Parts: sequence; C-alpha cells; structure tokens
Amino acid sequence: MLYVILIKAFGQENMIKKDVIIIGAGASGLMCAIESGKRGRSVVVLDHADKPGKKIRISGGGSCNFTNMNMSHRNFISNNPHFCKSALSRFTPRDITAMLEKHGVEYEEREQGQLFCAKSAEDLTRMLENECNDAGVNIVLDCRVLDVKKADFFIVSTDRGIFQSESLVIASGGLSYPRSGASGIGHRIAKQFGLKLTDIRPALVPFIFHPEDRKIFSELSGISIEAAVKCNKMVFRGSILFTHRGLSGPAMLQISSYWKDGDAIVIDLLPDTDIYSVFMERQLVKSKIDMHNVLSGFLPAHLARVWCGLNIQSKPVNQYNEKELRDIAKQVHNWKITPESTEGFNTAEVTLGGIDTDELSSKTMESRRVKGLYFTGEVIDVTGQLGGYNLHWAWASGFVAGQYA
Ligand SMILES: Cc1cc2nc3c(=O)[nH]c(=O)nc-3n(C[C@H](O)[C@H](O)[C@H](O)COP(=O)(O)OP(=O)(O)OC[C@H]3O[C@@H](n4cnc5c(N)ncnc54)[C@H](O)[C@@H]3O)c2cc1C
Repeated sequence: MLYVILIKAFGQENMIKKDVIIIGAGASGLMCAIESGKRGRSVVVLDHADKPGKKIRISGGGSCNFTNMNMSHRNFISNNPHFCKSALSRFTPRDITAMLEKHGVEYEEREQGQLFCAKSAEDLTRMLENECNDAGVNIVLDCRVLDVKKADFFIVSTDRGIFQSESLVIASGGLSYPRSGASGIGHRIAKQFGLKLTDIRPALVPFIFHPEDRKIFSELSGISIEAAVKCNKMVFRGSILFTHRGLSGPAMLQISSYWKDGDAIVIDLLPDTDIYSVFMERQLVKSKIDMHNVLSGFLPAHLARVWCGLNIQSKPVNQYNEKELRDIAKQVHNWKITPESTEGFNTAEVTLGGIDTDELSSKTMESRRVKGLYFTGEVIDVTGQLGGYNLHWAWASGFVAGQYA
C-alpha cells in the first residue's frame, strides 16, 4: 500500500535508477560499493544513519581492530563452517592492509595477530569514503528504507525517494548495538523473499549473574584477572573482568558466543600455576598461613577471600589433609559459574546467526532463490571471534559480492 502511494507521489519518472542499490553504509556495504563501482556499475548506498561506518568508528575502542593476521575459517561460527572459506581466500588481511597503505593510514599489530589503526578508526572510514568517491558511488544518509519490492527490477522505497536497480545488496548488519544504527531490516527482507534464517542471539557480550550471585560478586566489580574460561568444549585464555552486574573482559566475551541459556562456565582462575604443588610445598613446611592468604599470593586478595567464603572453609594450610588440598586445587582450576543471562543486543558486539548460508552462494553472496539479491557482512550466519574477525568478514563478503552485484 505504502509502495503504491509512494510510486504515485513520486511517479515512475522520478525514480532514481541505478545498477546496484546497497542497504547499509557499514564495513561490508562500503566495501561492496567500492568494488562494484570500480567495475563501472552505478551504485547507491542507502543508510538511515547520519554518517557512514558508524560501527567502524566505535570498534576496537575507537582504534578499530580491522583484521587479524591469523585468519582462518576456524575463527568463525556458522551452521556451515566451510561457507566463509571462499571469501576469506579471495580477500585476505594483506588486501585490507594494502588498501590502508595506499591511503597512508597507519596501523599496528597488537597481541594475537590483531591489527588496529595506529591513530583512529576515523582514518579508516575516511579511506572508505575516498574509495567510494573515486569509484563514483553515491552515499545517501539519513535515508530510511520503507519497503522493498521486486518485479523486473528491485524497487526500494525510502523517505528520500524511490530507487530502482538490477541488483540489491543487503548490508544492513545484525541486531547488535542498536544505538549505532542496527535494525532488523536485513532479516525482514530475507523473510519477505522466503529465505531461511538460523536462530539469532547476541554474541561477544558480557554476562549477567543471578541476583543472589550479583549480591556476592558486586563488591568485586572492577577486578580483572588472567584466566582460562571453558564452555561447550571451547576454551579461551585472556582477561576476565568482574562488573557490577556479572562478568566481562575479552575471554568472557569470546566464550559468550558459545554459551546457551543454563550452561555453566568453567573458569580456571590460575591457568599458569599448579596450585596443588604450591599447597603441598606449604604443607611440607607445616605452614600456618590461612588458605585465603595463600591464594592471595596468586589472586587479588579480595577475590581470594570471596572465593574461599563461597567454596571452602578457609583455615591454616597445615590443617588440611592431602585429599582436601587436591579438591581445593581442582576447584581453583575449575570454578563453575552459571550466569543468568547476557546483557543482550544492547551491548553485544555481534549477532550470532542470520541468513542461512544454504540460501547463498559462497562465491558471490547472491541468493540462490532470488536473482540479483545479495547479502553481506553480519546479516549472514557467519560470526567471527573477537580479534578483528568480524570486520574482516565484512570486508571479505563485501568484496566478493562487489565482483558480481
Ligand atoms: C562496540 C563494538 C565494537 C566492535 N569492535 C570490533 C572490532 O574491533 N573488530 C571487529 O572485527 N569487529 C568489531 N565489532 C563488530 C563489527 O563492527 C561488525 O561485525 C561489522 O561492523 C559488521 O559490518 P556490516 O557491514 O555487516 O554491518 P554494520 O557495520 O552494522 O552496518 C550496517 C549499516 O546498515 C545501516 N542500517 C541498518 N538498518 C537500516 C535501515 N533500516 N535502513 C537504512 N540503513 C540501515 C546501519 O546504520 C549501518 O550503517 C564491534 C562491534 C561493536 C558494536
């Protein structure tokens, strides 16, 4: 109905005709636009935000962890773990660094192969805008997409006019971080055209404790330690942070992508220390130091005290027998916590799940059902681990779609 009204209001002759319409001026949409534009296609990118690349600007704490030198399909979660292989092999970390170098954007390698902008993520968005400009791409901002139809062509109705194209690329991201422009439009368009979606949930997201645990742990808020966290056969090493609501920090964000409601998380509080040997050494010298003080030598004192209060009866080390010390050591290395939930899409860095990869060609990102309809980036059921993998998926999927759209 709205579509009919708009067509009448604007008239067919006022329709803006392009070869390619891209919904979403984020990482994947801009990369796709650049590549498609370079092939001589007329391209328009529509976005309801007031700036392109809003998520890029806030990513990596403003420095943007834009790729990772250790790129492998194993760093991605998807119902089909092989789907991302083709795009990753055709657009590598070296391809994105070459683009940065061409534009004089400085970058640096940090731990575990993560590449960040040396100055600011704004340098990277400026680079993308310049590339779009050179490729003759139009970017229309503050543009709300109202409706999408397909007859001979795609017709996209917006509050900034009606656009018509041969190819339509949905690069509108997932549901995470709505304040940076996320909306469910990509999923809605997929459903409208009969494409299947996988289950969707927030990922790379902090945990919330059950109310009773929140009371106990809130006094630990701000404490951070190096730990190993385990859930559903995945293990991540890194820092974990107690917050006033639950647990965060890189290792917790990583494991959140593998966690489901009701699952326990197993935390090794001292992954580099054989704490049982430490206990036995103390016992050998008949140490009268209280257990929480022994643990305070390895953990923040406050955490050691709260942990002991919850899990054991703290007493001088010489008063435990060997089995008790073995059990305490086991608990230190396998502390189980069952969160109530996660903080949800409001703070999640990514959306797990999306357009079912069975619906798309892994070579082109084009829908198998609807000719000319492409999907790129986070809207697809391909989710990266923390460390620059999600932006790399956005670049790679946008790049390959741009060769065909
Ligand atoms: C806080 C934070 C930090 C992050 N840090 C990193 C990091 O350091 N490294 C990393 O690899 N990944 C990081 N990510 C994840 C990464 O930013 C995303 O996975 C990636 O940007 C997804 O790119 P995309 O192009 O698929 O979607 P997006 O970048 O989300 O772009 C989608 C675009 O579509 C537009 N849009 C949505 N709905 C509509 C609509 N209805 N009409 C018009 N336009 C619409 C949006 O405004 C947006 O511009 C971070 C995410 C967050 C939230």
